[in-house]
Amino acid sequence: MALIITDECINCDLCEAECPNDAISMGEEIYEIDPQRCTECVGHFDEPQCRRVCPVDCIPRDPSRVETPQQLMDKYRRLQGEALAQARGGSERSRSCE
Ligand code: SF4
Ligand code: SF4
Repeated sequence: MALIITDECINCDLCEAECPNDAISMGEEIYEIDPQRCTECVGHFDEPQCRRVCPVDCIPRDPSRVETPQQLMDKYRRLQGEALAQARGGSERSRSCE
């Protein structure tokens, strides 16, 4: 499942740079995770990098976003495919099928 940032976030910025999927960005008041891009770091690392650095431990798993390891790996591969297409100069925007 994707992770979610709770309102305990103190906007320290530490997690944003750690995310290998560019899933974290500043929201209206606190940082947010795009569940379409969060793979729990599957494909990149053995553990969620955002949770590793968060000083207030405010990044739990989102129970409303249950995903199997295979689904997380599929998401990782989709993101890798998009990154590859962009690196090749394609400017097409990714289309969500969900
Ligand atoms: S678990 Fe990994 S992929 Fe998901 S938001 Fe945190 S750093 Fe990014
Ligand atoms: S590391 Fe934790 S406290 Fe800092 S911005 Fe990210 S979620 Fe918020």
